[in-house]
Amino acid sequence: MSGGKSDKPATQVVQAGRRPEWTGGIVNPPVWRASTILYDSVAHLRATGAKDTHHTLFYGRRGTPTQWSLADALTELEPGAEATFLYPSGVAAVAAALLTVLSPGDELLLVDSAYDPTRSLATGLLARMGIATRFYDPMIGAGIAELIGPQTRAIFMESPGSLTFEVQDVPAIVAAARARGVATLIDNTWATPLLFPTIGLGVDMAILACTKYIVGHSDVMLGSVTANPAWFKRLRETSFQLGQHVSPDDAWLGSRGLRTMKLRLDRHGESALAVARWLATRPEVARVLHPALPDCPGHETFLRDFRGPAGLFAFELAGGDDAARTALIDGLEHFGIGYSWGGYESLVVPIDPHRYRSVTRRQAAGPMVRLQIGLEDVDDLIADLAAGLDRFSAVRG
Ligand SMILES: *Cc1c(COP(=O)(O)O)cnc(C)c1O
Repeated sequence: MSGGKSDKPATQVVQAGRRPEWTGGIVNPPVWRASTILYDSVAHLRATGAKDTHHTLFYGRRGTPTQWSLADALTELEPGAEATFLYPSGVAAVAAALLTVLSPGDELLLVDSAYDPTRSLATGLLARMGIATRFYDPMIGAGIAELIGPQTRAIFMESPGSLTFEVQDVPAIVAAARARGVATLIDNTWATPLLFPTIGLGVDMAILACTKYIVGHSDVMLGSVTANPAWFKRLRETSFQLGQHVSPDDAWLGSRGLRTMKLRLDRHGESALAVARWLATRPEVARVLHPALPDCPGHETFLRDFRGPAGLFAFELAGGDDAARTALIDGLEHFGIGYSWGGYESLVVPIDPHRYRSVTRRQAAGPMVRLQIGLEDVDDLIADLAAGLDRFSAVRG
C-alpha cells in the first residue's frame, strides 16, 4: 500500500488506521496487552513522560497500537477531525464528551429525542454538578438560536433520534451555535461517518456507540468520540483524567468489525428499506418511521445530508393494544427480542417513546415497534413480519 488516501468510504474502511510502523507486515494490528511499559533509561522515561501525545507507549492506560489503530481509523473517516478517543461503552463516550465541554453553572441544550441514558446523564449526574439541561424539539433547526442563552455552553444532537427517528438540520444548528460560540456534539451512532460525516459540517465532537455498527457482531461494548482541532486537547485531557481505557481485545474486535462495515451497512440499509416500504403498504401499520421514508419527520433533510439508509427504524401500529403488539412480537422466528442493534442479526423491541420525552410528546395511532434489520434474507424477514401482523390482527379483533 502506498498510503494514498481515498475519499471513497469502501476504500477508507479497508485502509484506515493501518500503519506499518505499528504492525510490520501483519495485516491486522496484534493485540498488545500492557500495563507497565519498560524504558531504556531514566532519560528515556523522562522524555516519554514529557511528551504530550497519545501515540507513544507510556503506561497501559494510555493505550497501545491496538487501540490507536482503531482510534485513528475512526478519525480518518471524519474529514477535518483531529483525533479520536475510545471508551468502554457508548454511554461512557457520551459522558466524556459532555464533561469535556460543561462546567458547573453551564446550560446544555439536549435534543428531546436523545437516547434515554443520555437524558439520564443530563438530569442525573450533570444536574448534580450544577449543569442545567433544556430539552429542545428535534425539528427546531435554525430556531435553536432563540434557546441559546448566556449560560448555554453546548448543544447535543442525535440524528436521527432514538426511537422516533426525527432527522435534525445539523448544518442549521451548527451555524446558530457557531455564531454564539457554543460547542456542538452529535451522537452519530445510527449513520456512522460512512453515511453522515459530521465534523466537516462544523460539529465539534462526534460520538459513536461502536457497540453497534463498528463492532457489528453483538459481542463487544465500545464507544468513541472524534473531535475537531479546536476540542481534541480538552477531550484528551478529560478522557485521561477520567481514566478511560478500552481493553486491547475489544479494540481489536472493533477494528475487525470496521473492515466489513461498508458492506454490512449497505445490506442493513437495503434490507431495512425493503421491509420499511413493505410495512408502509400494510393496513395494520399506521406509520413507518425510517428517515428514508416520507412519513419520517426530517425526511427531506435526510435526503439532503445522508449518503444512504441504515438498518434501524420503528413503526406505529394502527390501533390495537399492548397484548396485540406482544402477539406480533412473541411469535417472530427470525427476530431476536433484545436491546442494542447494529449486529448481523435482526432484532425487535416494543417501544413507548412518550415515556422519554419532555417537550415533544406525540399521540401515536397505536403501539410502536422498533426493528433492527440484520443480514438475513429479506424475504424471510418479510414473511415473518406478515405472520406477526396476522397475529396482531387476531388479538386486536
Ligand atoms: C446504544 C446507543 C448508545 C450507547 O451505547 P452503549 O455502547 O450501549 O453504551 C448511545 N447512543 C445511541 C444512539 C445508541 O443507540
